[in-house]
Amino acid sequence: MQTRWVLLALCVVVVLLAACVNNPAATAKAGHPLPTLVPVDFPHATVQPYDVSGSTESEIRAQLNANRPNDYDAYTRWYVSWDWPGRGSAECRLAEAEVSYEITVTFPRWTPTADASPELVAKWNGYLYALALHENAHISNVVSRFPAVVAAIKGGTCLSAEDAAQAVLQQMRQFDSQYDLDTNHGRTQGARFP
Ligand SMILES: [Zn+2]
Repeated sequence: MQTRWVLLALCVVVVLLAACVNNPAATAKAGHPLPTLVPVDFPHATVQPYDVSGSTESEIRAQLNANRPNDYDAYTRWYVSWDWPGRGSAECRLAEAEVSYEITVTFPRWTPTADASPELVAKWNGYLYALALHENAHISNVVSRFPAVVAAIKGGTCLSAEDAAQAVLQQMRQFDSQYDLDTNHGRTQGARFP
């Protein structure tokens, strides 16, 4: 079955790496264990981590700027796709429509070096926490409105279903835009480093 992807909203995003969380090797210079990195889970999204290194705030910031795949430290991209027998024609079977979504989040992954201070690790934890908070709202936007896309299609007609689904997607895009405007892409939520 042919599937057409509809690319949608992009946004600043965030997330955290599970791999960061389990890093037993990191210990402070003085021998004190470093704070555990904040565990962040995004059950509805695929995480695409990118690595950053450094043992100071400025080194990490330089790495973020150099290694991030776009203009944001974290970035969420989502797609909603649909298809049904007879799609595009006046005779179709909407009840058999297949609708799905895919959410991808790119986010930084830093493994503390042996000489990283506990303060730096704590600051990074706070940053990731705020990033995760911000990104989760983008993710929830998609997950919570997805049933409305399905309903719009299955409750529509062969000629109206496409537009009805697009109308819901537009609401999702509007949420993303307004949310980023309201939060300055997460900065007002604490998503800034350093
Ligand atoms: Zn955002």
